[in-house]
Amino acid sequence: MDIVPRDSFNREIDYLRVSVIDRCNLRCVYCMPLDGLRFLPGPELLTAAEYETVARAAISVGFRKFRVTGGEPLLRRDITEIVERVARLPGAEGLSLTTNALMLPALAGELRRAGLTRVNIHIDSLNPETVERQMRWGSFERIWAGIMAAEDAGLSPLKLNAVVTAGYNESDVVDLARLTIERDWHVRFIELMPLGGGECARLSIARYVSNVETRRRIEAELGLMSEIPSENPSEEARNFKLRGARGVIGFISPVSEPYCGTCNRMRLTADGKFHLCLLNDDELDVRKALRSGAGDPHEEVAKILLKAVALKPTGHHLLEGRSTRERSMFQIGG
Ligand code: SAM
Ligand code: SF4
Repeated sequence: MDIVPRDSFNREIDYLRVSVIDRCNLRCVYCMPLDGLRFLPGPELLTAAEYETVARAAISVGFRKFRVTGGEPLLRRDITEIVERVARLPGAEGLSLTTNALMLPALAGELRRAGLTRVNIHIDSLNPETVERQMRWGSFERIWAGIMAAEDAGLSPLKLNAVVTAGYNESDVVDLARLTIERDWHVRFIELMPLGGGECARLSIARYVSNVETRRRIEAELGLMSEIPSENPSEEARNFKLRGARGVIGFISPVSEPYCGTCNRMRLTADGKFHLCLLNDDELDVRKALRSGAGDPHEEVAKILLKAVALKPTGHHLLEGRSTRERSMFQIGG
C-alpha cells in the first residue's frame, strides 16, 4: 500500500497545486486590481526543469495528484513543456490545469498530447456584459471558444468555475446551472474569499454571496437538486444533480461550510515557496534548495516538502476578518 504523508492533524496530504506564473490576461474584480500590480521578474519563476524536480520529489514522498494554476498558466511560453515533464512522471495520477480558457483554442490539443488530462475553466457568467464587467479584459465569446476547444481536445470531464459576486453575476448562476441539463459538465459555484488585504479583498467581503443563497436561487428556477454522495473524502465541492440532468452542479463553500478538516492540499508558488494553506501566509522556501548547488536537490526538496506538510495549519479565520496579508489569490493560484 502507498504511503501518503500525514500532517499534524492526521490529514493525508497528497495533492500539490503548482502555480507557474503570477501574470494574467484578465483582471477579475475580486482577484486583480487594475493598478498598482507588481509581477515577479522572469528569473524568479521556477523553470520547467525545476517543476519536474519538485514533482519527482513530491511523488517520492507520496504525493499523487497535481494541478497547474496561476495567474493565467497558459501565459507561460513553456507551459506545454511543464505539463509534459510533470504528467509523464511515473506515480503522477493525471495532471489537471485551471485556466480562464482564453488561450485554449491555440493550446488545448498540444496540452492534451503533452499529457494534460483535465481542465477547470473559469467563467463567471454566460451573459457577455457581465463577463466584461466582472472578468474585465476578456469576452464571453473568447472564453466560450476555449471551452469548446477543451471539449474537442477530450479534456474531460470539463469543469467550469464561477465565483458568485453580489451586484455582478449572482442571478446569472441559473443559466450556468442550466448548462448541466444537456451537457455532462461540472458547473461549480465558488464563494468569495478575501486574500491579500487590498481592494480585491475588500470587494470579496462586501460582495460575498453564500452558496446557501446560490443553491436556493437555482432550485427556485430549475427545481430541487439531489446530492451525489462523494467518493473522494477530500472533495472540496458538494455535488448535486438537477432532475434528469447529464452534468453536475458543485458548491465550493469555504466560508459558509469550511472543509479544512479534509484538506489534502499543498501549494507551490511561482517563485518557489511551499504555501502551507490558501488562507494563511505561512511558507517554506524551496527555490533556494533547488538553486544552491549544495546537496541533491531532489532529496532537499523532499525534506522541505515533508516539513511543509508537518507544519500545515488547519482552520481559517475568515469570519474573524483574518486571511493572508502577503499574497493575493493570483499569487497563490486558488
Ligand atoms: N487564471 C486561472 C483561473 O481564473 O481559473 C487560474 C488562477 S485563478 C487565481 C484560480 C481560481 O481562483 C479561479 O477559479 C478563480 O475564480 C478563483 N478566485 C480568484 N479570486 C478569488 C476570490 N477572491 N475568491 C474566490 N475565488 C477566487
Ligand atoms: Fe486572472 Fe484567474 Fe485571477 Fe481572473 S481569477 S484575474 S483569470 S488569475
